[in-house]
Amino acid sequence: MTASDHVVTRFAPSPTGHLHIGGARSALFCWAFARRNGGRFMIRIEDTDQARSSDESARGILEDLAWLGIEWDDGPSLTLADGRVIGADSRPVGPYFQAQRVPIYHAYIEALVKAGRAYPAFEDAAELEAKRKAAVAAKQTYRYERPADVKPGVFNAARWERAQSGEPHVVRFLALHEEIIVPDQVLGDVRIAAGELDDFVILKADRFPTYHFAVVIDDELMGVTHVLRAQEHLANTPRHVAMQKALVRLPQHSPPGSESRATPFRTPVYAHMPLIFNVDGTKMSKRDKAKAARAALQAKIKQEPALTADVLAPRLGAAAPDIAGFLAKDNDSLEVATAISRVFGVALPEIEVADFRAAGYLPEAICNYLALLGWNPGMKTEDGKDLEKFDNAFLAEHFSIERIGKTNSKFDRNKLLSFNGDAIAALSDDAFIDRWMAWMREFEPAAADRIGAVPRDRLAALAAAIKPRAKTLREGLKSAAFLLRDDEATDFEAKAVEKHMRADDGRGVKLLREFRETLNALLDWSPAGLAAHLDAFAQANGLPNPGPIAQPLRIALTGAAVSPGLGETMAVIGRLSCLKRIDTCLHAV
Ligand code: GLU
Repeated sequence: MTASDHVVTRFAPSPTGHLHIGGARSALFCWAFARRNGGRFMIRIEDTDQARSSDESARGILEDLAWLGIEWDDGPSLTLADGRVIGADSRPVGPYFQAQRVPIYHAYIEALVKAGRAYPAFEDAAELEAKRKAAVAAKQTYRYERPADVKPGVFNAARWERAQSGEPHVVRFLALHEEIIVPDQVLGDVRIAAGELDDFVILKADRFPTYHFAVVIDDELMGVTHVLRAQEHLANTPRHVAMQKALVRLPQHSPPGSESRATPFRTPVYAHMPLIFNVDGTKMSKRDKAKAARAALQAKIKQEPALTADVLAPRLGAAAPDIAGFLAKDNDSLEVATAISRVFGVALPEIEVADFRAAGYLPEAICNYLALLGWNPGMKTEDGKDLEKFDNAFLAEHFSIERIGKTNSKFDRNKLLSFNGDAIAALSDDAFIDRWMAWMREFEPAAADRIGAVPRDRLAALAAAIKPRAKTLREGLKSAAFLLRDDEATDFEAKAVEKHMRADDGRGVKLLREFRETLNALLDWSPAGLAAHLDAFAQANGLPNPGPIAQPLRIALTGAAVSPGLGETMAVIGRLSCLKRIDTCLHAV
C-alpha cells in the first residue's frame, strides 16, 4: 500500500438532531475499520439542508462521539474539558462542513454541464407535481422526462446561459442508459439495470447541492477509500456510482504532475450494514418515543375520561390542538411526548446517544453492545461461549468487513442493560465514584451537591454497596436516595411501618429503641464493624436472624424497608445522622 491509498473512512452525519444510536454504530464501525488498517477516520458534517441543520446539533453529535470514545483524525475540531483537541491534526482536505464547500460543488456542476453530463432544468415545482400526480393516477411510476433538447455528452449552451442570467432552475444529472454495478463488500455486487436511473437533481433551486452530489464530490476530494453506512442508503448508491463514472477531478484538485491527464473519480469500497430494528420488528426511530407516550396517555384517559385535550393543555404546557393531533397520530411531537413523560412519570425509550447518556449508561457498554449489532468477532471464550464482551481496543484490533452480517439486527434493550450493569460492577470503587459523580453533576446537579459533600471514604463504602446492583448510574442514585434524605424527615412508608415495627405489639419499635442505645458506645463505625454489631445484637436478643431489627432500622434510616447493605448504609450516613434518624422515627411511629 502506498501512502496515497491508505484507508480513509468517514462518518457523515446530517446535523438535524441528536446522534441516533444507529448513527453511533456506523461511526464505530468506520472508526474500527480505520484503526484496524492503520488508516484515518474522518467526520464530515452534511449540512446542505440549511433549514434543518444547526451548529448546535453538529456540536452535540461531535460531543456524543467523543464521549463514546470514537475519536476522529480528520474533521471539525472539538476541545474537550481537559483542553485536549480532537481533530487538531486533520489532513488539509477540509472544510469539513459541506455548507462551506459550496464553491467547490459549483465548480464541479459547471464542469459536468459543460461535459454534457448535467443540465439546468427550468420546470417549476407545480408543473412537476402535476405530472407526478397524473402518473400516479394512471398507475405508472413517475419518472422525470428528459427534455428533447438535452443530449448526452453535448453541452447545452442555451440552457446554461438561461441559468447564468438568473432564471430559477435546478441542475439535473444526465444519466446514461447503462447498467450500474455497486460493488458492495457485505452484499456482493448490486446491479441496477440500464434505464432504471432517471435524471435526478444535483443542484437545488437554492444553489445548494443535493446530498447525492455533495457526498460524491467530497468522498473523492477527501480521499475516502471505504464507505461503511447503513443499508438504508443502498438505494442511493447507484446514483453515486453513476456520478463517479461521469466526473473527473478539476485541475486544482488533481495530483501534482497529472495536469495533462484527467484523473477520474474512484468508486470507493462500499459496505452497507444491516438495519437496526426493535425487538418487535419495527424500525427503531425517534417516533418510538411518541408511540410510548401516546400509549401511556391513552391508558390514562381510559381511566380518567375527563382528561380531554383542553384539560391536558395547561398541565402539559402544550396547545390543545397539538395534544389532540398527537393522540390522533396526526403528529409525533417530541415536545408533547416529553411533557407527557415529565408530567405523568412515563419512561420513554432511549433512542439517541444523549438519551442513554442521561439514563446513566457507560460509553464502553454502549460501544460493546453496538459492535455486536451486525458484527461479531467469531471467537470463543475459554468456556466455549461466543465472545461478546470486549472493549474498543479489541474492536480496533479485530474488526473486519468480512464479519459484518447481511440480516437486520435487533436492538435488545435488556441485553444492553445487562452489559451496562456488568460494566458498572467491573469498575473499581474509586472509578465508580468519579464517573457516577461526573454523571450526576451533568444530569442531577442538586443530588451532586449533596452527595459530593459526603467525605470520600464514606462514598467508597457506598460505592461498594450500590455498584454490584446498579444497572445504570441513575439506578445507583435511586439506591443512594437515602443520602438525600433529611434527618428530620418523617415520611416513613406506612405499610412497612405496620409490618416491621408496629406488628407483634410494637416488637420492631422496641428492638429499634434498644439497638439505638447500643450505638453510642460503638467504636468501630466501619461497614464491617456495623454489620458485625448488628449480628451480635440479633444474637444477644435471641433472634434467629437480624431481620427483626434490620427492617425497622432500614425504615428509620431510609424511610423504606429496602436499602443497600446496612453496614454500608450506616457508615455512609454517619453516626450523628443515624442517631438523629432513629430518634425521628421512634418519635413519629
Ligand atoms: N448525511 C447522511 C446521513 O446522515 C450520510 C450518508 C452517508 O453516509 O453517505 O444519513
